[in-house]
Amino acid sequence: MSILKNAVDFIINCRCVLLRYNPIRHECGLLTIGNPSPDSPVFVSGNYFHSVKRLIAALRGINCYLLVADSAGINVWCASGVCDFNEHKIADVVNATGLHAKVYHRKLILPQLSAAGVNLKTLEKECGFTGVFGPADFNDIKSYVNKGYCADEDMRAVRFSFADRFYNAFGMSAVFFLPVMALKLILPKKYGREIHFLLLMNFINIFGNFMLYEKLPFKYPANNSLLIGAFIQAAIISYSLVKYFFMTPLKFTLFLFYGASAFIINFLVSIDMLGSTPFYKTTIAHWLKTFNNKSLFQPLILTEACTSCLRCTQVCPKNLFSETNGRIVIDYRRECCECLACVKQCPSRAIVNKNGALFKDDIKSIENIEEIMKQKNDA
Ligand code: SF4
Ligand code: SF4
Repeated sequence: MSILKNAVDFIINCRCVLLRYNPIRHECGLLTIGNPSPDSPVFVSGNYFHSVKRLIAALRGINCYLLVADSAGINVWCASGVCDFNEHKIADVVNATGLHAKVYHRKLILPQLSAAGVNLKTLEKECGFTGVFGPADFNDIKSYVNKGYCADEDMRAVRFSFADRFYNAFGMSAVFFLPVMALKLILPKKYGREIHFLLLMNFINIFGNFMLYEKLPFKYPANNSLLIGAFIQAAIISYSLVKYFFMTPLKFTLFLFYGASAFIINFLVSIDMLGSTPFYKTTIAHWLKTFNNKSLFQPLILTEACTSCLRCTQVCPKNLFSETNGRIVIDYRRECCECLACVKQCPSRAIVNKNGALFKDDIKSIENIEEIMKQKNDA
């Protein structure tokens, strides 16, 4: 039975990786890992199936509870920014599973990357549990536990490792692979070679973007994506010119199709880069106007309202904030990715943008957003 279950899990995991834009939801509820007692820690997760499975593997060896709350089947970082993962959903699962009766303490360890979407005060009001933020990456959970449930600077930083980038590239390739293969079924057989060429170009495009983005010359990842696109366009044009030197109208159309599809795919990859939280965020209009996809939230400043409560230092995934002699300082050499976790968690509304620029338009999780915008515009 367990062999069958493992085989099913394996197939579902492959499906999650290949079609990550159409994620599978894990059931919500309370899971036990090992043999938890009433003193055992309670970790919280969203219900993106792939993450829950990886988190269970990372927690193996720790006797604990894992509370899975609804995040619309997507990862907590993305879900938190658009209100799909929040304090109400966590409180609902706490109350529905009767967690109060299972543990003596009243503490939940939340994923750090949910900080942009979870209001800790409301969470406590709705279910009686206080939330603390754990490490950014669940692979650091064991070190976090071994260090007395304390996340150091390294654990708070978001890393976009080679393996993570490969996983993303693989998932995105599948998005284009399936329609192109469908095209292969529709077109006459003699176009098989062209279809394979198109697929190869797409793979180079997508893997090039994700694997090389730090190595390419432009500062902003979205511009690097266009650079790779330009190389691919050049390759397609050279190939087409050699192959279709004396073009018939049909072949000329094919030539145009190649160029247009490569451009569209490349543009889509570039746009995805704008929204990819490990990079920076901006609006498409801003990027196209300036060729700069730096966070619109930079440069940020602290107002007099700051009470040095340290909350921002615990949730910023880029470690922009630190404390020196009782005061909070911002490291302007580090790039903000506009997750707005600091704004969401600051109890004094002390973090504002110096230029009064708009936030990226998909941030929905900040309460009193109009008030903050006004504060920014007045600053
Ligand atoms: S969270 Fe707000 S009040 Fe607390 S240290 Fe940061 S800026 Fe200051
Ligand atoms: S400074 Fe930027 S990266 Fe850090 S928490 Fe705030 S918005 Fe996110």
